[in-house]
This record gives sequence, C-alpha cells and structure tokens, in this order.
Amino acid sequence: MTRVLTLFLLLFGSAATAEMTVTQVTDNSYALVGPIGNRDAENLGNNSTHGLVVTPQGAILIDAGGSFLGAQALHQVIRDVTDQPVKYVINTGGQDHRWMGNGYWKAQGAIVIASADAVADQRDRSSMQLSVLDALIGNENLTGTEPAYADITFDEYYDLSLGGVTLQIQHQGGAHTPGDSYVWHPAAQTVFTGDIVYISRMLGVIEVSDSANWLEVFDEVAALGPAHVVPGHGPATDLARAKADTRDYLENLRNRMRDLIDNGGDVISSVTVDQSGFAYLANFDQLAKRNAQAVFIQMEWE
Ligand SMILES: [Zn+2]
Repeated sequence: MTRVLTLFLLLFGSAATAEMTVTQVTDNSYALVGPIGNRDAENLGNNSTHGLVVTPQGAILIDAGGSFLGAQALHQVIRDVTDQPVKYVINTGGQDHRWMGNGYWKAQGAIVIASADAVADQRDRSSMQLSVLDALIGNENLTGTEPAYADITFDEYYDLSLGGVTLQIQHQGGAHTPGDSYVWHPAAQTVFTGDIVYISRMLGVIEVSDSANWLEVFDEVAALGPAHVVPGHGPATDLARAKADTRDYLENLRNRMRDLIDNGGDVISSVTVDQSGFAYLANFDQLAKRNAQAVFIQMEWE
C-alpha cells in the first residue's frame, strides 16, 4: 500500500488523503496541506499546512497538528509517505495547529523543538486555545489533547541534523505569533514557514501578532532565495506567490492604516481601509475587518 502510494506520489506529485493533500516538493521534502477554512470536526484542528522531511534515520515533522486526534490523523498521512518513524517535531509557533498535537508525538517517542518565545506564548494561550477548539471541533474530538511543551528550546537558531540532513531553524522575533520560526532546508532549497506565510487564504492578524516585524521576518525568509516555500496555510509554492499573498497584503494594510492614522482616523474607521486588491483570498469576508482593527491597535502606538 505504501509503495503504491509512494509510486503514485512520484508519478503525479500529490495525492489526497482524507482532508490532507500530500505534495512532494523535493526528493525528501513534502507539504501536508490541510483545508484553508476554519477548524472543524472533520479536520480535527488541522486547518493548516505541515512540512515533512524524510531521512534514512527517521522523519522530521514541521508542526504537530491541532489536537491529539489531529496529530494521529497526520501520522496516518505520514505513514502513506514513509515507513520512517517521526523522530523530531518542530513547532514553528504558538498557534494551536503548530503544537496542540505535541502530546501525541511525545507518546510516540518524538523529540519536540520550539523557540523559547513560542513555548511562552503556548503556555499563555493554551487554555484559551482549548476552549476555542472545544467549540469548533467538538469536545469528543479533543479526547487526549493535553498541553505538552518542547523538549528542546532555543533563543534564535537551532540546527537540527538527522540522517545526513541539516535543518536550520530561525526565530527572528514575532510575526503572526511571538515565537514564530522558519525552517530552512538548504540542500533542498526549501523553506517551511509556519504562519509567517499564508497562501490562497487571507492571513490573520491577531492580538499577539507583530505586523511590523512580520514584514522583517518575511524579508529574512525571502533573503534565503528559496526555490520552494511550504507555507503555514495553503499549498506549496514559490517566493513570488508568497510575497503576493502574504507580504503585499500586510504591507498594503499597514500603509493604508498609516495614512488613516495620520489623517486622524480612529479604530471605528479603521475597517474602511481599502483591502479590495486582496478580495481573491479565501476568508476575506471573515478576516479583513478584524485584521484592520488589530493592525490599527498596534500602529496607534508605533
Ligand atoms: Zn495558522
């Protein structure tokens, strides 16, 4: 079965498994692409894209999944890609889909890695995130989900080597969440960005986001010159598309908000700034005005 699916992947590049689509990005790198809408009972909190790097000595998963059962569902998808055990799980940030599945992976013997800032954010928001998940995916689907935190933490960089592959994990300050990191796989010219990059859907600026530094962090990712970008939401892509769907959106919102603030605008009027150039992104109606308010609140103090 595994061999058949792997052959299928090699021939066609991607295959759908339940709600996750697997895309082979390079010979040893994959994107596990979940749905781009909200968390629900079907996706078990995995409304997100995850990375997978397979080596002869084990696999590395980038982002744990949104719940214990969500992590288990991810594991099923991974088993169709490789027989290698998942040895390491990297949490690229503090959103639930980056880390709420940690307990499942620790029970499988995996070692979890995250920035110290991500762990602090996870601890701060774990009970709120569990309440939201309870409402969105349902209490029965939260079975087994307990906050569990990284075994290895780092301040700014961590090099992870396994089976002849070295991944460079970089935390350059907050973006979508305070502890966001990106994972650079130089041999594959592939970057796994977590919530630093959203493709096809509108990004979310939330209370803990830092929209100013988010642009700086994006520029660090761009400076790597990646051939492949595996985002935190949406399909694997290239740098030009990542810039269009994420950086250009955020920059437009901030520039227009700066003008509004300079002209005496307030938080009520903040929702009127023109974001129509990005109406092609999924979730525009649900998120555009909320993002405007969140950016206003941050920029008022810049
Ligand atoms: Zn996210």
